[in-house]
Amino acid sequence: MWNPATGQQQAEVCFAEPEDLDAAVAAASAAFEQWSQTSLSARTKVLFAFRDLLDRHLEELAGIVCDEHGKVISDARGEVQRGLEVVEFACGIPQLLKGEYSDQVSTGVDVFSYRQPLGVVAGITPFNFPAMVPMWMYPIAIACGNTFVLKPSERDPSASARVAELWAEAGLPDGVFNVVNGDKVAVDAVLDHPGIAAVSFVGSTPIARYVHDRASAAGKRVQALGGAKNHAVVLPDADLDFASDHLVAAAFGSAGERCMAVSAAVAVGTAAEDLLGLVVDKASAVRVGPGRDESSEMGPVVTREAKARIAGIIERAPAEGARLALDGRGLVVKGHEDGFFVGPTVVDDVRTDMEVYREEIFGPVLSVLRAGSADEAVALVNRNPYGNGTAVFTSSGEAARRFHRGVRVGMIGVNVPIPVPMAYYSFGGWKDSLFGERRVHGPEGVAFYTRAKVVTARWPAPRAETGASYHFPTAT
Ligand code: NAD
Repeated sequence: MWNPATGQQQAEVCFAEPEDLDAAVAAASAAFEQWSQTSLSARTKVLFAFRDLLDRHLEELAGIVCDEHGKVISDARGEVQRGLEVVEFACGIPQLLKGEYSDQVSTGVDVFSYRQPLGVVAGITPFNFPAMVPMWMYPIAIACGNTFVLKPSERDPSASARVAELWAEAGLPDGVFNVVNGDKVAVDAVLDHPGIAAVSFVGSTPIARYVHDRASAAGKRVQALGGAKNHAVVLPDADLDFASDHLVAAAFGSAGERCMAVSAAVAVGTAAEDLLGLVVDKASAVRVGPGRDESSEMGPVVTREAKARIAGIIERAPAEGARLALDGRGLVVKGHEDGFFVGPTVVDDVRTDMEVYREEIFGPVLSVLRAGSADEAVALVNRNPYGNGTAVFTSSGEAARRFHRGVRVGMIGVNVPIPVPMAYYSFGGWKDSLFGERRVHGPEGVAFYTRAKVVTARWPAPRAETGASYHFPTAT
């Protein structure tokens, strides 16, 4: 693994072979027998202890994320905090697992339902949120009584290794939370393994589709979250100073390596010229530097290959008719000349058929498009194959309502550029941004990691007068 700010290798990770996964699944299966029978209050106690440890080790985890991913330390703290909030949600598991009860559905008959864990479940996660995205999954899965096998990104797996130690310290029994490192070999072994009941995946769209299809074919429950191209639509009545501040932060925060990053700004009508000027000025002023420097606002991208890929897309944009309003390719960070830095880049006059728009660049590149009206902007958003997040900037409640009702996107911000739902709502996009029925965390997370039973029950009174030709068994 590399430190993206220095360009130097800092650690090595051993990739698992299928036998290593077998061992993890065997440990998780054995642990499931006991963990699934552990009382709700005992499970909750472990979750509260884990929550406390995460809180106390937040700075340490943020440092690990910063050094391996490259994002700035303030952003890394935010990521751990948002993951911790899922743990807090999972601490309420006794409330979340309450079933339903119907009295007297027929004479002397009652019906009730409750949910049980699935067994061993797996998570496969991307590089861009090495702490938070796994935390979308395992706190809820484990709270529900499952045991978990995590295959983190091979580019920044250290946060997951540290989390495993914290779980142990919190009192989680061995085998309930397992980490298997690796690449495609480990992923394929997870998808095919008969001992794994469900797979949660977050990553790029081609791999999400592959994971969904292969794991579904193997009979598993699957939720597979994919990539994104998130549009921010700026209407002429928006406060352009406010909108441009938020656009720039949402496009260049974490070097654009967020699945909810704004990568396309759609300026409607007269908003365009003033907005572009403000965005370019503010993007030029973003402080780019190593993540450990508290004054940095944006760090490097994750790998040398990512830097080269992003630079290639920027280079090819003018040939298709786009205009580089701000070109970040030449940026050099003093003292970090070997780091994987790309400066904020703004590409104007972008059309939807261009590579810079079609590709999920996953770097600090903002495309600016134009639309004649709000309805035209909604149609543009809806033609995009992705449907993860979008935002509208406006001072009109009516326009905002029309926008959020009209877009075919899962998560929508109104004057909020990165509308990541809180832990007690569920996270997930539409179209090519999510394969499978269930979104992650929140109520849908609980539903994903459990299955329901409905019991129809009759308890006849003993037939005292006949000596009972038959007796319904009674509890002792
Ligand atoms: P990725 O798809 O390359 O990797 C994700 C996981 O899949 C990793 O664990 C990796 O080891 C594994 N993988 C990679 N190639 C594989 C293959 N050929 N076969 C089997 N497994 C494979 O994604 P990434 O580059 O790590 O992360 C960035 C992507 O994740 C972006 O597309 C981003 O939009 C997406 N993402 C989406 C969300 C969301 O909520 N929708 C959140 C975060 C990231």
